[in-house]
Amino acid sequence: MQIAVLGGGLTGLSAAFSVSYRFPAAQVLLFEKGKRLGGWAQSELVNVQGRRIVLEGGPRTLRPKGAAVLELIRHLGIEDELITVSKSSPAAKKRYVYIPPGQLPGVSGLNTVGLDLRSPLMRKFLWPILRAPLRYTRFKGDKDESIHSFASRILGDEMATAVGSAVIHGIYAADSRQISAHSTLPFWTPKDPNSVVADSSTSIHMDVLQPHPNVGHLGNALKNMSVYSFKSGIEALPRALEKHLESRSNVQIFRESSILSLLMRKDHTFELSYSTLHNTSTSFSTVNPTYIISALPLPTFHRVAKAQSTNSPSPYPNSQNVTSSLSPIPHLATNSSSSVHVLNLIFPTPPSEIHPPGFGYLIPRPREGYPTVASDDQPGILGVVFDSCSASQQDDPTMSPEEWYTKGTHTKITVMLGGPYPLYIPPSTPTSPSLHNVQPDLPHHIRIVLNHISTHLSRPLPEPIYYRLWRNDNCIPTYSIGHLERMQEMRDVLNKDISSGGWGGKLEVVGAGVGGVSVPDCILAGRNAGLRWL
Ligand SMILES: Cc1cc2nc3c(=O)[nH]c(=O)nc-3n(C[C@H](O)[C@H](O)[C@H](O)COP(=O)(O)OP(=O)(O)OC[C@H]3O[C@@H](n4cnc5c(N)ncnc54)[C@H](O)[C@@H]3O)c2cc1C
Repeated sequence: MQIAVLGGGLTGLSAAFSVSYRFPAAQVLLFEKGKRLGGWAQSELVNVQGRRIVLEGGPRTLRPKGAAVLELIRHLGIEDELITVSKSSPAAKKRYVYIPPGQLPGVSGLNTVGLDLRSPLMRKFLWPILRAPLRYTRFKGDKDESIHSFASRILGDEMATAVGSAVIHGIYAADSRQISAHSTLPFWTPKDPNSVVADSSTSIHMDVLQPHPNVGHLGNALKNMSVYSFKSGIEALPRALEKHLESRSNVQIFRESSILSLLMRKDHTFELSYSTLHNTSTSFSTVNPTYIISALPLPTFHRVAKAQSTNSPSPYPNSQNVTSSLSPIPHLATNSSSSVHVLNLIFPTPPSEIHPPGFGYLIPRPREGYPTVASDDQPGILGVVFDSCSASQQDDPTMSPEEWYTKGTHTKITVMLGGPYPLYIPPSTPTSPSLHNVQPDLPHHIRIVLNHISTHLSRPLPEPIYYRLWRNDNCIPTYSIGHLERMQEMRDVLNKDISSGGWGGKLEVVGAGVGGVSVPDCILAGRNAGLRWL
């Protein structure tokens, strides 16, 4: 039996890992269009003026609540790679929202959010916060709506805009008026009290047969941690997965291999067409797996699955023997996605000279709405992460983040731009300066961003000694209103009997576009894909 896994991001890697143990007699084929595995999990190590610095272009910190990631870390044996941020550290306790002058009467600048009565922003919204539980019980509502409209009913429009829109910028890089409340807030997803197991004595094979991840000793070890990452960056996770999969005799990885189309044949196996890039040529081939897990971005999978829906023969068919009764897979192309520019900046002074202690800050939607054109006045900054507070140990494992804050040799921050704003930094801007330049000349757009950050932090900033720009196109799906219900309808079609027009449960569609964008959501979805094939 062959099982094909489409897409080598974190979801696809996690799926390939678990099915290779759950079905040891099956041959697992993992297809990735790029050279590199890991999708948006991308880290880089640079040496800047003698400093060894880890930069992140995608996810940077994970929450220990994601049991499937802890299980995977245990199975891969990479516990020693972990760096953690305790719940009592400033990075855990202080998160800020920057209120531009004139946006909110009586409040401006950096304000902490959370239980902090010294924060003018929190004092301003004390009454809406206090009455929220009562309003939640009365006005929760069962019909899906936008996060903004839900938060406005419970907390009031002013707070929903000032704080809610900023938080959604930080998670989805999107407009809170477009994101579905049901898909993103926990109130509508029933909690399973037995969803985590903690037993270090079981084997990988035993663990992946169970629907609930087994965190073993790591659950306790990370109990008091707010977030964690890896010494060499988040990409340590896909790298370890790749190495592990390469060592498994029943897994074959196809790199630089783009999935083109899939069809179900009359014998209910698939005809999967793909192209592979070679040095100077491209070859086209097909395989015939019995089961498929798609962990592709949904719009890509929409194109791939179209061949079946339109009943047109695949472009490179071995067989025209196709099942004709299948229903089209619905809703694959409904959601849009956000493009984000991620800009790492390195300063040659300790963090205490650059920013206050904390995780970073987010910026709400402008009072007048998003501009249609980017400009120097409005470059579309969504937020800034103070990486040196949460991940200084990537650059110097011998110092605690608290020590690094005043004594570190440099400061690392990351600016997120774009999402609902037009992208500001033009394609002509180099993604990094030459490492041989002792004092790089900052391109115009990066200097403008720096000037804005300096205003937010109310202090002049020294010249950065390095920057790295990551252009992440269509990187975060926007779960629009009705997403949960649409995904259920999609699963219903996939799981229905073939005789009734369904796909007989032989194809699973998972990944960031379906059941949660966070790394833990993706790893869990990959882990549990194909459980029903047992
Ligand atoms: C800037 C940024 C910051 C983030 N920060 C965090 C964070 O701090 N914490 C957190 O938990 N989450 C964070 N996330 C979210 C999380 O990183 C992603 O949602 C997750 O990595 C998505 O994984 P995936 O495998 O589902 O999708 P992807 O990473 O998109 O993987 C899909 C894979 O499919 C491949 N592919 C595409 N087309 C084809 C084809 N035709 N054939 C074969 N392969 C194909 C792609 O090359 C890619 O490798 C962040 C995301 C971004 C972009």
